[in-house]
Amino acid sequence: MITAKPLSSQQNAANGPVRWQSLWRDAIRDPRELLDLLGLPELAARVSDAAAAQFPLRVPRGFVARMRPGDPADPLLRQVLPLDDEDRVVPGFGLDAVGDREARGGTGVIHKYEGRALLVATGSCAVHCRYCFRRHFPYGEETAAANQWREALDYLAADPTVAEVLLSGGDPLSLATPKLAEFTQALAALPHVRRLRLHTRLPVVLPERVDAELLDWLAALPQQVVVVVHANHAQEIDAPVAAALAALRGTGATLLNQAVLLRGVNDDAATLAALSERLFEAGVLPYYLHQLDRVAGTAHFEVPENRARTLHAELAACLPGYLVPRLVREVAGAPAKLPL
Ligand SMILES: *Cc1c(COP(=O)(O)O)cnc(C)c1O
Ligand code: SF4
Repeated sequence: MITAKPLSSQQNAANGPVRWQSLWRDAIRDPRELLDLLGLPELAARVSDAAAAQFPLRVPRGFVARMRPGDPADPLLRQVLPLDDEDRVVPGFGLDAVGDREARGGTGVIHKYEGRALLVATGSCAVHCRYCFRRHFPYGEETAAANQWREALDYLAADPTVAEVLLSGGDPLSLATPKLAEFTQALAALPHVRRLRLHTRLPVVLPERVDAELLDWLAALPQQVVVVVHANHAQEIDAPVAAALAALRGTGATLLNQAVLLRGVNDDAATLAALSERLFEAGVLPYYLHQLDRVAGTAHFEVPENRARTLHAELAACLPGYLVPRLVREVAGAPAKLPL
């Protein structure tokens, strides 16, 4: 007989799937279903099947719940819906805008900047953001977790100049916590690695991912921890997201945000200021505001550089300095993200 148990936020594999993993699998993947849910069936005529085939729609239901029904210009919807704008071929928008193919050594490690090595931990994400360079990335087996982190750990062990390891992807928190712990247990044997940084959108798009198991893992890490989340609009940060961020902060981690400047999503000063204010209320400091990487299928999101500079100046004129993100562009071969 099966007895009813109180709903716990944490179940282990023996008891069935962890709750966030069920929510992950329950994500919406059909553009028409998404548009029906939002009362926007007429927008289906503008969905690109080609774009959806190349990089499928994927969005957790909790993120959809933060969209405004009936609004075709909703800033959250715009980030995930594959529109026919993506089919336009625009000169200068290619397949490897940031030179990652050149920098990777086949181990899932991208070591471009002094002192920091980035691990492509996995290719998976809970949400598929239409503007992402990831839409063309040849992940395949080239992820650091694929071979029990072996090659990535060998690489890090051999280079004492690496003081900070970044787990990125894809989204590193799409890996189960025990898989992450497998890495950090081995990493703890490398005293030259003093900081661990996670680049993740999961606390924002699926805050249930921030569960007791994840928090316990983070709190016990010997390195200083930085969590860089990714929100582009204040509307993404609702009460459950704020609670997840507070819990992350409770582990002692420093929380930063990176956003991408996106036409039709956040390309006005009031929207960007509201994002900074909302982030700070949730205990997160704005870090970078990225100029879009020029990746095929994303040209309709681009904000011209002079307009970006104007927006940034407007932000600086209305916010305290600590709430103004650095406006940067990634340039292949450069020693850091370049300020605009
Ligand atoms: C952006 C990036 C980093 C981190 O750069 P910071 O300026 O330290 O945030 C590190 N490695 C790679 C490959 C990157 O693309
Ligand atoms: S890597 Fe980040 S921006 Fe790209 S699809 Fe995944 S969550 Fe979105």
